[in-house]
Amino acid sequence: MLSLIAVSSVVLSTQALAWEHEGHHWEVETLHFSMGPGLLTTLPQAVDPTTGLTTQELILNAAWCNWLWSEQCATLFPERSAPDVPSCVNLHAIYAPLSTDATPYSEVHFTVSDDKSAPGIDYEYADDGVLERARVVIDSQMTWLSSEVACEQGELYLEAFLTHQIGHILGLAHSCDDGDACSGELASATMFWAYPSCELSAASIEEDDIAGLTALYTPSATLTSDPETPAGALPLEVTYTLVSNVPAIDVAWRFGDGESGEGQEVTHTYTTQGQYSVSMDFILDGGACGEVSGSGEAPGRALACGVPEPAFSYVELADGRIRTVNLTAMDTPGCIDEVQWEIYSGATLLTHDAWEPELLLTGEGEHTIVLTVRGLGGGASTALAVAPTGRGCGVPAPAGLIGVLLAAAAAARRRL
Ligand SMILES: [Zn+2]
Repeated sequence: MLSLIAVSSVVLSTQALAWEHEGHHWEVETLHFSMGPGLLTTLPQAVDPTTGLTTQELILNAAWCNWLWSEQCATLFPERSAPDVPSCVNLHAIYAPLSTDATPYSEVHFTVSDDKSAPGIDYEYADDGVLERARVVIDSQMTWLSSEVACEQGELYLEAFLTHQIGHILGLAHSCDDGDACSGELASATMFWAYPSCELSAASIEEDDIAGLTALYTPSATLTSDPETPAGALPLEVTYTLVSNVPAIDVAWRFGDGESGEGQEVTHTYTTQGQYSVSMDFILDGGACGEVSGSGEAPGRALACGVPEPAFSYVELADGRIRTVNLTAMDTPGCIDEVQWEIYSGATLLTHDAWEPELLLTGEGEHTIVLTVRGLGGGASTALAVAPTGRGCGVPAPAGLIGVLLAAAAAARRRL
């Protein structure tokens, strides 16, 4: 099964963003939005006979249509034209009356509240952290204006306010925050931190808004691997796929073992033990957004393991004790997950599972010590016959000397 392992660090060509994002965007292509209960008393209460919507609902639709134009927008606002958002923005919005569908779906709910501290947005996230709903809260005690009336001090244009909040809901932050030095142009921008109370032009979408939407909702790619966690015995075969929402023009892979590949889906076989980082560069056909290039790296390394090659020696201590020295290669972390020592002393069998245990050899004569090592690549054993001389110095040798001592001990044994 092809599994999603990461939304890889896709780099889009549109880097010159006018602001940083809030850190989220919608995972769905179609965003439903609806209006909660309650009407602002400062706006006309009658239902428009042509559309069947209240003035408040129409303003909410207008604010949405500033960002994302749809057929619905063309019907509701025949006098308006679509905003200059690139056609490659992969997000649509529809106005849908409150749903009774029990299944969670992305929805923006517009709520009127008497709580003066409430204006803003409430976000609801699922347990897995995915943004499920956002709710714009409107303080019904403030004076909200529709676009038809002149704005005075202390009054707010509802469309400008909602357009700004919807910008946040889409994932955008402020073009200029409180305390920042910013130009007069930015001070009237859609995403200025304090939307101008009497500036209806703040409802219109500008170049930086388009750059933000483009960065969030245009061509994207995800790196997947099969198996999801590529780890196992040699030869290890892994299929890597760049899943993109637009056609890929070129994908170049580096498998980390010196080998490379081309294509949206590639299968590579690792034949040498190691831990490998997989990276790739890609170019996507972004349609109206042009070519989009980027790069990514598989978050999990491929771990390919050969059969372990156990090896050990020992240093004799006093009182029938020996200190084992494990010489099994550990140069690939993760390839060995089990170590077992068995000591055969006559009819007695003792086992240890430490990496380098100190062993007490009881009784006279020769003992057989077996070291077994197992891991992803399989298991193997090696054995040594050990006959303590009883002349051990009783002091463990410094680490640097152990290898020398062991080499001498092993050589002596072989000569015997
Ligand atoms: Zn804001």
